[in-house]
Amino acid sequence: MATVAKTYRLYIGGKWEGGKETMPVIDKFTGETFASVPLASRETTERAIFAAHEAFPAWSRTPAHKRYKILSNVSRLLEQRQEEIAAIICREAGKAWKYSMGEVSRSIETYRFSAEEAKRIHGETVPMDASVAGDGRIGYWLRVPLGVVSAITPFNFPLNLVAHKVGPALAVGNTIVLKPASTTPLTAIVLAEIIEEAGVPAGVFNVVVGSGGTVGEWLSVDPRISKISFTGSPPVGEQIIRKAGLKKVTMELGNNSGTIIEPDADLSAAIPRCVMSAFANSGQVCISLQRLYVHKAIAKEFTKRFVEETKKLKLGNPLEKDCDVGPMIDIKEAERAETWVKEAVKEGAKVLVGGKRDGRVLQPTVLVNVRPEMKVMCLEAFAPLVSIYEYDTFEDAVRMVDDTPYGLQAGVYTNDLKKAMYAVDRINVGGVMINDTSIFRVDHMPYGGNKMSGLGREGVRFACEEMTSIKMVMIKP
Ligand code: NAP
Repeated sequence: MATVAKTYRLYIGGKWEGGKETMPVIDKFTGETFASVPLASRETTERAIFAAHEAFPAWSRTPAHKRYKILSNVSRLLEQRQEEIAAIICREAGKAWKYSMGEVSRSIETYRFSAEEAKRIHGETVPMDASVAGDGRIGYWLRVPLGVVSAITPFNFPLNLVAHKVGPALAVGNTIVLKPASTTPLTAIVLAEIIEEAGVPAGVFNVVVGSGGTVGEWLSVDPRISKISFTGSPPVGEQIIRKAGLKKVTMELGNNSGTIIEPDADLSAAIPRCVMSAFANSGQVCISLQRLYVHKAIAKEFTKRFVEETKKLKLGNPLEKDCDVGPMIDIKEAERAETWVKEAVKEGAKVLVGGKRDGRVLQPTVLVNVRPEMKVMCLEAFAPLVSIYEYDTFEDAVRMVDDTPYGLQAGVYTNDLKKAMYAVDRINVGGVMINDTSIFRVDHMPYGGNKMSGLGREGVRFACEEMTSIKMVMIKP
């Protein structure tokens, strides 16, 4: 029996409101419309920015202990609603239950880290007398909030990637207008309920829903916005930067992550971890394992066991507790990924498992005989597909992992310290994971990319730095 679609509302200036136009929210597995959300008009977006702008002076002066308490409340309330929110993520994002639950757990921690960080925002004294001109003066600097932050977020982690913007922004005393991805607006709206209940004053947090080309653009160009915190694809990131004008920006963008497997690796640990890294959330993770470089001495055994492990994955409805791989976010994306696999096969690649598609569900796909110039290798796949490439020397593998316009994270399985340090030194990325894959992340570590993968860093403390400015004070007694 079809369920009745629930109507959600936007949260603007501390009030809940509908709108003239609405947008359906689709269960990504069944295709059923299970909710609808109002689309923000230009006027609605204006009001959200206005509310955030008006709320800034009072919020920026709210003492740290109060911001700490409120953010701790957000964390606690998320914990109370963990299963309900995980079910929404399963349906609107198509993410398997265990990973949706994992995302909520991580978000609980991200807000807890943000609460703690609220008490640690401070500057330093400056030894003014180090300069003749500073002799006899007192100097210190402070970290101060910026103002209104526009947070523009992707579909693949609708709760935790929002948390990486909202938590730090609230911690440092900024106000926020959030625009979630059009495919996954509900998690952001439920977060607004929690934020309200947690005691965040009206206007400090606002959520508007609408397309990137309309609401996203309005939130990028408005002069009352002081900072754009964007997570998404490189082309959209570039568009935003071109239009933003003089604003601070943080850009968390894509990657075609590589991981190296040396012969001394513990294969019984590495293989299941690599399978998870390639296929969790149908490969729609910015640090999903896409390129696997395996030394020729172990390539045959590794590949055989990797394929066996991949075949064990359970595809299907993300709401089922034992589901490993659910649907992709939309049919066009699934078709695109399928086409890339077909193209690679035409160019000489071989599919060892997977490659077939049923609607939005693309089977976990393992390719060999790939070449660096194939799309599955040189572009970001963002799909459940991984390519295995056999290499001769460790130096070659490091060079190939680095030979990409992206630079987010990479992994290296080796217990040889010299090799590990060689890779750390040579691969131009934001993070190198030794004895793990590119996918490793905890939410307080610095996280972000080089080259086409982005600008700036998240990870709560680092996002707090990016969301503040420095004010220097000099006193001549
Ligand atoms: P996307 O298409 O770039 O969209 C991201 C957000 O930008 C959405 O809210 C989108 O709105 C909005 N947007 C689109 N066009 C815009 C414009 N012209 N101006 C302002 N906003 C605009 O990315 P996605 O498909 O949701 O996510 C996948 C990408 O995100 C991948 O490249 C992935 O690697 C990257 N990602 C990076 C990280 C990281 O931390 N580095 C984490 C997760 C994902 P609509 O939804 O309405 O189009």
